[in-house]
Amino acid sequence: MSHANTGTSVQILNNLIGGQWVPSRSGRTEPVYNPATEEILAYVPISSGEELDEAVAAAKEAFRAWSRTPVPRRARVLFKYQQLLVEHWEELARLITAENGKSYTEAYGEVQRGIECVEFAAGAPTLMMGKQLPDIASNLESGMYRYPIGVVGGITPFNFPMMVPCWMFPLAIACGNAFVLKPSERTPLLAARLAELFAEAGLPAGVLSIVHGAHDVVNGLLSNKDVAGISFVGSQPVAEYVYKTGTANGKRVQALAGAKNHSIVMPDCDLDASVQQIVSAAFGSAGERCMACAVVIAVGDVAEPLLQKLQLAADAITIGNGLDDGVFLGPVIRDSHKQRTLGYIESGEQEGATLLRDGRKDTASSGDGYFVGPTIFDHVNCEMKIWKDEIFAPVLSVMRAATLDEAIEIANRSSFANGACLFTQDGSHVRQFRETIDAGMLGINLGVPAPMAFFPFSGWKESFYGDLHANGTDGVEFYTRKKMVTARW
Ligand code: NAD
Repeated sequence: MSHANTGTSVQILNNLIGGQWVPSRSGRTEPVYNPATEEILAYVPISSGEELDEAVAAAKEAFRAWSRTPVPRRARVLFKYQQLLVEHWEELARLITAENGKSYTEAYGEVQRGIECVEFAAGAPTLMMGKQLPDIASNLESGMYRYPIGVVGGITPFNFPMMVPCWMFPLAIACGNAFVLKPSERTPLLAARLAELFAEAGLPAGVLSIVHGAHDVVNGLLSNKDVAGISFVGSQPVAEYVYKTGTANGKRVQALAGAKNHSIVMPDCDLDASVQQIVSAAFGSAGERCMACAVVIAVGDVAEPLLQKLQLAADAITIGNGLDDGVFLGPVIRDSHKQRTLGYIESGEQEGATLLRDGRKDTASSGDGYFVGPTIFDHVNCEMKIWKDEIFAPVLSVMRAATLDEAIEIANRSSFANGACLFTQDGSHVRQFRETIDAGMLGINLGVPAPMAFFPFSGWKESFYGDLHANGTDGVEFYTRKKMVTARW
């Protein structure tokens, strides 16, 4: 049986438990929409906590053999998986666009980011190495050995159906763990395909399980005593809840949360290049990126020319189905998210911001989906909801500051601290920004400073809960535990 039950005209997705694709018994489903067309692509089961427990039990069993499989043999499965992902690149990108709505070009780039995670994980033999000191005292030696932690649970958001799951399960599995993934119920199709391809690459049954669903599955992962660690990516309130509940239950948890990223534009910047980067970062993927540019702070007299150019660039954006040629801005994920976004646009107007460009008036080149055009507010201040909250849509707030000091002070007032960017040609500005901004991922003259898989994805403040971030050696530390051996011969 494959990942979907094709007995009905629209497929109901199956769970993957112990290497078998099995229908959920919960009797509850939700439609998975193509947000550009409102077509129902499939139904996702809202599985029960009991089904999650079955997946964890199967994962625990699979862990016994997988954790003892020599690391180079585990790595070889990752190499084969990488090949398969490359072979299926276009299919995966089309699937991302279908269920998420982002443009095909962005989806294609997302597949690349996912593949890079697999490439990093395939270095497991080196990453898993320990350390030794042959002489801590006379005739006394000491060594550190690294082991997997057991069954790891992953909970992922809708906005990167491939990249975010790939931050988690390839590395966790390469390190010898078994993994139970609960994908976003709004974009579950890609995860199922990723699991099918991993099995084709030779991953033993039960090492990667998928349990579709929502709160019950999340709460099951948080309470099941056989789950050793949880990797979470999603909105701030859920991240905080997952972190607090998971750690209270004795699990290690890394919870990557929401964001409100600021870009500071200095008068000495290359204005055209900066505008291109900012427009792409603010409106690309319909603003549904945790590294999206949500706020621009214009310093000094750059404000007027910057606003003019931003407006012109936003006017030139083609809105529509991400599979159509030339489309840059796809829909937001659901009608409820569109309505929430329209609510924020109204609130910005009511709170006195200047609505410079009203994306409510735009129409899409094709499709009936959940479209909101590029929206720009000017004269936003820190009292406004549109500044405080993560809107997660193509809505850009512009603020003004007299100096770089003032701009940094404004950005640092945000409770979020995922990314921040500076556009300038002056090295001393760069140094001041790097040393004083409160954010974990900085961009200089670029709009989306998302680190590659071999570096940590390192949000600060309310953008992250935990100690060890996703990816890089942080990820290896998170998915492993150490044994120290001190020996006298
Ligand atoms: P979300 O928090 O609604 O959902 C994330 C996951 O949590 C989903 O699998 C969902 O089923 C589950 N969930 C949601 N509400 C829950 C609840 N009350 N109890 C238990 N589980 C629950 O997030 P989303 O809308 O899918 O994704 C967008 C958010 O993710 C944005 O806030 C974005 O900034 C954030 N994000 C952060 C990063 C990062 O690296 N910091 C990366 C991508 C996305």
